[in-house]
Amino acid sequence: MKSLNELLWNYDSRFQEPLSRLRDAPSMTLMVVAAWALVRILAIVLLEEVLAVRAQQKQEWPVCPVCGQKMQSKGFRKREVGTLFGVIRWSRRVGRCPRGCKGVQVAPLDIDLGILAYQQTTTEVQSLGCQLSVFMAYETACHMLKQLTGVTLVPSTLWSWVGQAGQRAMEQMNTELQGMAAGESPKAEPLATGLDRAPLLIGADGVMVPFRPEAGTPKGKTRWREVKVAILARLGERVNRKGERSTRLYQRRLVAVLGSIDDLSPRLWLEAVRQQVRSAVRVVWLSDGGTGFWSVFQRNFQAVGATPILDFYHAAQNLHKGAAAWLDGRTRACQQWFTKMRHDLRHGQEQQVLTELADLVKTKSLPKSALKTLTNLYNYLKAHEDHIHYDQFKTSGLPIGSGLAESACKWLIQQRFKGVGMRWSEPGFNRLLHLRLAWVNQRFDNFFPDAALSPN
Ligand SMILES: [Zn+2]
Repeated sequence: MKSLNELLWNYDSRFQEPLSRLRDAPSMTLMVVAAWALVRILAIVLLEEVLAVRAQQKQEWPVCPVCGQKMQSKGFRKREVGTLFGVIRWSRRVGRCPRGCKGVQVAPLDIDLGILAYQQTTTEVQSLGCQLSVFMAYETACHMLKQLTGVTLVPSTLWSWVGQAGQRAMEQMNTELQGMAAGESPKAEPLATGLDRAPLLIGADGVMVPFRPEAGTPKGKTRWREVKVAILARLGERVNRKGERSTRLYQRRLVAVLGSIDDLSPRLWLEAVRQQVRSAVRVVWLSDGGTGFWSVFQRNFQAVGATPILDFYHAAQNLHKGAAAWLDGRTRACQQWFTKMRHDLRHGQEQQVLTELADLVKTKSLPKSALKTLTNLYNYLKAHEDHIHYDQFKTSGLPIGSGLAESACKWLIQQRFKGVGMRWSEPGFNRLLHLRLAWVNQRFDNFFPDAALSPN
């Protein structure tokens, strides 16, 4: 019996080049690379064979949309399309109107296969191109796509694919927001086993992104605009091989919007409902001092009994500012006072910290500037009086820093939208952002339902 090697060699001359490379490869790597090329050609040959058979089958001709006459075959015409394996070519019947109505031409096989008239690439390549674009600059994504599939594209093609898919993502979001405003609840996302009693952590932060100052032109000075990002995650426990317990975030979901707090608020609530905020055993809100984000807490999460936590490191930073204004930043007294206050705040003495600050601002001998800084510090901590029980939080196993929101900003925004020389248009940014959100929230396949290459 002949080997597959020999069979392929004689089957189609396209196999011969990669086959001889495979046979002569001096290393395992080169062997695999040659086999990869061979398998792609094998897929192309298989696809082209199936298409050739389908093209021969009897065709039902549609009627001319202009005059209503039944269309007629004008014989076989060539067609090619870029796929995951490279470019495939086939011939199929093309028909026209017998009366010669202009611009009316159909290829029934293409319609059956779901290929549009001007489509040059199949959907799984578009899906892959969009996934790459979610993580890297369009130009780099083009190179990667060429490496992976052999399909050559220009960056603007990827940009327009992302535009279309991102637009669908935005429309879906708007439909969901409208539904929620009309009293419908989004479908709850199932929780992985063991997470149903895990606390739901929610945090939010802002990050600046560079935009073009005017639509349609890259000219002019960069305009920085804030993107608001929120994260929702379950705080689960992990036990390592030594039996040591540590906490870890699970089922991380992100929400982001280029807009105001009023734009963030309903989006975050939508995702929170999806993450079962109403039935969670414990909900925790973590944020630094930004008043806008705290208003989101008051609007949405206070009513579900969320535990609010003011970021400890932000609070400590403000204590240091106060110490420096009062005792001159470099002195030993300043360092000592700050260390003590920070320690008291962290270890259950928050009331004492407040009392001490209250007494301090009543001191008559304070210089004006120090008085102002210390008054601000007192007002800030007093406003967050119920959010600074750090000792209690720690005892309950909760985090006391809002680092999860900061790292969400870095992860979601910094990595893709703040590359060297990048400046965004509002629509271009929004579409890519929504697609990136779909990806990180594990909903990307919704936008390319038939094109998922690996089952989740
Ligand atoms: Zn016609």
